[in-house]
Amino acid sequence: MELKDVIIIGAGLAGATFALKISKFAKTLLIEAQDYHKEIPKRTNIFPEHNRPFIQEEIDWGNKKIFPCAHTKSNYMSDEFNGVIDSTEFGIPLGNISYTENLIGELINKFEQQGGIFHSNESISKVNKHSEYLELINAKGESYSTKLLVLTTGSRGFELQRSLGFETPDHYTGAYIHLYGSEAKITENLDVNYTFHINPKISKNGPFFFNKGIERVSAGFLGEKNQSKEEILSKLDRILKNYKPIQSIIDGLKYDLSTAVVGDISKHPIKKFSQDRVLVLGEAAGLVTAFFYEGLLPGVACADIATNTLKPLIEKNSNFNQLELQKYDKDVKRILLTYFRNGNALEYLIYKDNSYVKSLWRLYTKLISENKTVREYIYLAYINQDLANHKVGNDRYVGEKLLGMLPFLQKLSLSPRFIKAMLL
Ligand SMILES: Cc1cc2nc3c(=O)[nH]c(=O)nc-3n(C[C@H](O)[C@H](O)[C@H](O)COP(=O)(O)OP(=O)(O)OC[C@H]3O[C@@H](n4cnc5c(N)ncnc54)[C@H](O)[C@@H]3O)c2cc1C
Repeated sequence: MELKDVIIIGAGLAGATFALKISKFAKTLLIEAQDYHKEIPKRTNIFPEHNRPFIQEEIDWGNKKIFPCAHTKSNYMSDEFNGVIDSTEFGIPLGNISYTENLIGELINKFEQQGGIFHSNESISKVNKHSEYLELINAKGESYSTKLLVLTTGSRGFELQRSLGFETPDHYTGAYIHLYGSEAKITENLDVNYTFHINPKISKNGPFFFNKGIERVSAGFLGEKNQSKEEILSKLDRILKNYKPIQSIIDGLKYDLSTAVVGDISKHPIKKFSQDRVLVLGEAAGLVTAFFYEGLLPGVACADIATNTLKPLIEKNSNFNQLELQKYDKDVKRILLTYFRNGNALEYLIYKDNSYVKSLWRLYTKLISENKTVREYIYLAYINQDLANHKVGNDRYVGEKLLGMLPFLQKLSLSPRFIKAMLL
């Protein structure tokens, strides 16, 4: 049996980006359970400018099939206010809108052109650890061996990561769907690229969102832990049909509920991302921002950090022991977790208990609409090219302004919560 240098399980954005980067230095096999030769529903995501440094060289940023348009405007929307961040107020766009499956497809093409091997429609069901190598067994009973295993299995490979002794992140059921219409109609309904709306009756865990592509808008929300597919789809249907604040956005657009995609999404990082001969990247490690469920950034960032850790180890023919791989854990925490504090703080403030969700969100959207410095600080977080040095002071300023807007009695009762949120 041929011994590979690296085997990656899972070709989402984390796995595909990492495969392309590492295959410059190592014999690499990328394995994906879904059948990528079949048509896979295209996601329409926001891809902020702060993702760019981690994947700058790997893609053609002008490719409209990958990035159909720039992301210039976000709306943090409540029942009363539109907190709009418009990049033209400050400078370059907030980022791009991505057709993420096209991006992944392009990364895999380049990986294969570079000599990497890609197996799609193949699921790995078991991993046996040996001191010199790992043995992977697929659902058909075939096996592979590798010096290093990289798990980029998202929220869909928890059994495998558990069997290797890793923690699994807390995870919730999410649903999204595409709505279609002419460009003119979509622009008439929605003049921003991204809308983020919170109502605890929709979910106590996350927002309802719209991401605008070309002739399509994706809509979705994060539901409950272990919510069934039927339940979340029926709720999505009711929201799309009846929920007043969004009716003007979906008016005249077409959708088919049977095309909705349901899957788990993780929210908080596990403690350890490496062990002897194994690394965990992206959402599998729970690396998704808690409040905005931004998971593409951690996918590309982990891929870049893992490559930087592994390149010198591959060159010196390392045995990839835990001590050597610890650098990956340290760098992921240093580069991503400072930025993550903002999402943790917002999650703690707004979702801690049901009673203040709506009023705090309303106040936050009012603050964004009225205060230019707050808008500028949010803008700067979108375009930051050095996340390890994300300015926590900016987030603190926003927190203080929000606290200052509370009516006297609420200020008294919520002050301890604000102080704790700022220390998270
Ligand atoms: C509704 C919704 C909207 C979102 N919008 C945004 C957004 O706009 N911007 C943003 O930044 N983030 C967004 N996110 C989060 C982001 O999409 C994910 O966090 C990110 O795509 C995760 O990437 P990944 O590569 O880590 O995992 P995944 O994309 O989940 O990839 C894991 C892959 O591993 C494969 N796999 C799993 N187990 C096995 C196995 N045993 N054998 C072989 N293959 C296996 C799976 O088939 C899968 O393809 C959103 C999430 C949801 C749910």
